[in-house]
Amino acid sequence: MLKFFQLFLIVFPILFRAQNSIYPQDYFQSPLDIPLLLSGNFGELRDNHFHSGLDYKTQQMEGLNIYASADGYVSRIKISQYGYGKVVYITHPNGYTTVYAHIQKFYPTLENYIKKIQYEKENYEIEVFPKPQEIPLKKGEAFAYSGNTGSSGGPHLHFEIRDTDRQIPINPILFGLHIDDHKKPEIQSLYAHPLSHNAQVNQTAVKVQVNLSKDSIGNMIADTVYAYGKIGFSINTFDAQDYSDNRNGIYKLSLKVDGTPYFEHELDQFSFDESKLINLHIDYEHYEKFNSRLQKCFIEPSNKLSTYTKNLPHNGYIDIQDGKSYHIEINASDIEGNTTLIQIPVVGLNSKIEFPSKPKKSNYKVLAKETKSIYLDSISILFPRYTFYQDADLNIYKNADGSVQIDEDFIPLSRTYTMSFDVSHINKDLLKHTYIAKIGKKGYTSYIPSELKDHKIIGKAKTLGKYNLVQDFKAPTIKPLNFEDNKWISELTVLQVAIHDELSGIEDINASINGKWILMEYNHNTGVLTYDLNDLKIEGTEIKLVITVTDKAQNTKSYSATLNRVSK
Ligand SMILES: [Zn+2]
Repeated sequence: MLKFFQLFLIVFPILFRAQNSIYPQDYFQSPLDIPLLLSGNFGELRDNHFHSGLDYKTQQMEGLNIYASADGYVSRIKISQYGYGKVVYITHPNGYTTVYAHIQKFYPTLENYIKKIQYEKENYEIEVFPKPQEIPLKKGEAFAYSGNTGSSGGPHLHFEIRDTDRQIPINPILFGLHIDDHKKPEIQSLYAHPLSHNAQVNQTAVKVQVNLSKDSIGNMIADTVYAYGKIGFSINTFDAQDYSDNRNGIYKLSLKVDGTPYFEHELDQFSFDESKLINLHIDYEHYEKFNSRLQKCFIEPSNKLSTYTKNLPHNGYIDIQDGKSYHIEINASDIEGNTTLIQIPVVGLNSKIEFPSKPKKSNYKVLAKETKSIYLDSISILFPRYTFYQDADLNIYKNADGSVQIDEDFIPLSRTYTMSFDVSHINKDLLKHTYIAKIGKKGYTSYIPSELKDHKIIGKAKTLGKYNLVQDFKAPTIKPLNFEDNKWISELTVLQVAIHDELSGIEDINASINGKWILMEYNHNTGVLTYDLNDLKIEGTEIKLVITVTDKAQNTKSYSATLNRVSK
């Protein structure tokens, strides 16, 4: 017979989950007044991070009203060229903060409040933390229009709910903001990984794809895997919701061996500090090579993500013994509980196979816990301690063209490292247009933050790969789009110019009218700079516009025009 406390342990978690009682329900309303569809969901896998909110589709338009999800006050406003673009944070009295990102523009009171600060600081990019009494908002009060600002690939509203004190994003659906979803997660591929030095799967010592077939209710059955030693599994999967085909992320992933839980991953919340550990959660090398993210159902020793169930005895590592049979089950679920089951029969078979004696060509060993300096005549590389999550064997050499090959971008890094190129042989005038770039597969170069110091150019890199010095002598271009020098602009509401820089990229934009700084908004997706003529508060009919654009290699271009208008 079950003792009372045993019954309690069984029943209590079920009640607890069913009511989601730790998060207030019906407190937050939808921030949009259209049917909600998602182009991205919480915890979905992105480059170097888990997605921290919901991306609501805005019917391919900008300019939809954004409403405060609950009573509160605007506690933070940030305007930046990349990232969240124009973003508002509303702090609520119940301990949560809601976040609304990629905003197009604000309602007039807020718009004026922000422009005043931009003009005071003479900068498009600002960040302010208004006091609780300054900008109060009521639940359902519209305060801004949806847009596509910052690092956004199309019009949408990025919405988050955070724990205010810890600034930890929580899955907004746990607050009752449900999305209709009757579709099961789709499994695109399954891989089996050998994880110990003596391990093998299907008679090889490297990971192999396992064939899957689908049954009539959408579950998957894998071909029998023959294996020996410690092995693990990974899957490529996505989840779509009703009325939309967007390939969003799953909520929960788990693995059982003969009914025993070995691994569980669930995306209720995470901290921004740990989000980069996604590079250990996925097979990073596989992603870099094939642009497909395999989620591991086993936990790398250095992966401290809080989204895994703690203290499962095996962390997803399955010890396969010769001659034994195992029944392995992977479950992939969305947050509405739609689940796809993958059944994997495994048979222990210790075949005689060739293990590669040297897995990889390498000439340097970097211990994760230690700082490492590497010198290749004119180039030096410094890996601070904990650049790598795990000890790494690297192949590093200098190429004939002067570039340095720092292994390949198949190993995830936990922090940046530096490299320096001796430039004492380069003429002073050329030096200021010289920087370090990462060299891509097709020779495409991308600028990395570089500075000149004591005859050296020092660059900060986030990834391994090929790097070299690059020179950029080409100034940006500036081209007016809806006006010309010496023309009347009385009928215009905005001035627009197209700007472009070929190699290093745009670093700084400065614009003025009659010598006074003006706010121009730069859309880096279209390359268009826009000035709102309603902001013009000067007397007289003649205005002199000057725009100066500088690239990252100190090439500058200026454009000026004299424009006439009917005095208002
Ligand atoms: Zn988003």
